[in-house]
Amino acid sequence: MRHNASNLAVAPAPRETEQALPFYQPAAHEIALFEHAWRNQLPLLIKGPTGCGKTRFVSYMAQRLGRPLYTVACHDDLSAADLIGRHLIGDGATYWSDGPLTRAVREGGICYLDEVVEARKDTTVVLHPLSDDRRILPIERTGETLQAPPEFMLVVSYNPGYQNFLKSMKPSTRQRFVSLRFDFPAPAAEQEIVMAETGIDGPAAKRLVSLAQALRALREHDLEEVASTRLLVYAAKLIQGGFDPLEACRAALVEPLTDDEETAAALMEVVQTLF
Ligand code: ADP
Repeated sequence: MRHNASNLAVAPAPRETEQALPFYQPAAHEIALFEHAWRNQLPLLIKGPTGCGKTRFVSYMAQRLGRPLYTVACHDDLSAADLIGRHLIGDGATYWSDGPLTRAVREGGICYLDEVVEARKDTTVVLHPLSDDRRILPIERTGETLQAPPEFMLVVSYNPGYQNFLKSMKPSTRQRFVSLRFDFPAPAAEQEIVMAETGIDGPAAKRLVSLAQALRALREHDLEEVASTRLLVYAAKLIQGGFDPLEACRAALVEPLTDDEETAAALMEVVQTLF
């Protein structure tokens, strides 16, 4: 995260929800930025690689702000009706069933659309009147138009790394959002995360983070993705469970990144220098 929003005061997390808050290790001023965006009714776009903490951040913020969270993993079959709702048949009659976006609007919740660029263009169009100052959600099928309450917030994310040009977000959509760039945590923070998530000891967590750094630095292999914090947490969980560290790293950090045997062997060589 390279946002430098200095002097932003963050309200302390409300006491009563403190216990329920998921663990989140901040990188910079993203908590303050999210909170300001929410208070000012601005939609937020979070871009960053897979497994770097975007989803965790959004669920942390939703709980911190005491708002219900509706998360939708977007895919190329996702229709507007999947977000807004549809008529269903039950007991011989049809009834209307709200989709997650509509529910979030009605309840003043947070709607988080993960990997929004995967969704079809006609789906993202329904976001337009919600993400500008009209803040409305027209529901064509019922003739209703919902006015979003001040507590409602739209949050979308995408991974700019592996999106091809055509799939990246339309500028007209992107320009409606305040944007945050996420990246993998700095080594000390990533070590804290791996320890907090798995209970693994400091030296082992440190070694895993060094391994991730080494794997991320490899440029000569044509990897679509790099070792994420999520995969580091997986490796640490396997090691904590008593699994051999080399095998744990193979299963959690090498095989998920490549199908190519030669590349896997090369990655395992890096693992062996550290374990
Ligand atoms: P993304 O949504 O970016 O794909 P996630 O938010 O699901 O990634 O993060 C994957 C995992 O990595 C989380 O489940 C958590 O264990 C860990 N993680 C990553 N970043 C953080 C962070 N800043 N604080 C706490 N946990 C984190």
